Amino acid sequence: MTVQMGEVIVLGCGCSKGTPQIGNYWGKCDPTEPKNNRTRPSIAIKKDDTTIVIDTGPDFRTQINRENITKIDAVVYTHTHSDHVACIDELRALYDRTKERMPLYADAASLQDLKSRFSFVFEQSSILYAPVVEPYEITPQTPMNIHGVEMIPFTQDHGLSTSLGFRIGDFGYSTDMINLDDTAINTLKGIKTWVVDCANLYDERIFVHANLKRVLELQEKINAKQLYLTHMKANLDYQTLCRELPAHIRPGFDGLRISVTWD
Ligand SMILES: [Zn+2]
Ligand SMILES: [Zn+2]
Repeated sequence: MTVQMGEVIVLGCGCSKGTPQIGNYWGKCDPTEPKNNRTRPSIAIKKDDTTIVIDTGPDFRTQINRENITKIDAVVYTHTHSDHVACIDELRALYDRTKERMPLYADAASLQDLKSRFSFVFEQSSILYAPVVEPYEITPQTPMNIHGVEMIPFTQDHGLSTSLGFRIGDFGYSTDMINLDDTAINTLKGIKTWVVDCANLYDERIFVHANLKRVLELQEKINAKQLYLTHMKANLDYQTLCRELPAHIRPGFDGLRISVTWD
């Protein structure tokens, strides 16, 4: 069997407000450390000539341009919180150039919500504005293959709602989760790298996002070789985390590149 290679780019690893927050608020983050500049959570997956983006939050255009991504083949959504979907209409600029509707993948609940909030990207909203996406429904645990990029979606507990996590080859993406059930854990077993929600380190009052204690509990069962934290709040300073965390757990940073293999 041939091993296939690809790459994940962390487009953003900040919390819903980003760092610095609007008003130039850096919290406990050192403003002189470039890796503290965190945009809203998103990743791009690259394999051969294909680029897939997971989520299109408020920093979508900036992230895509920063990484010089000139073509997107599909967008996939974890859930529909605003920090993951707010800039969906940026896809119109791509449509205007290609005249091809963007394949859009989301679970049934997310599709329904996106269609009601952003009907103008799904339907002809006026003579001037054509629909720009082609929706496809994701069923958790049913493997997906988008232009040869294989991924397995799984349901995550996001506190007051659910989100989708993804296993992509030997890589796992678990943003926006507070806990994972056995199905999700079994889906992730055997991964090499895990980008995982850790909004805060030690705060016990967790409602919708994991803290470090929860991440470590899950890691006990998943046993990934390398973890990168995402969805980090402004109280998590990059260099402080690097000093305090074990070597196999690192804070993520915008622009981080992770190699991925499928076998
Ligand atoms: Zn979020
Ligand atoms: Zn969320």
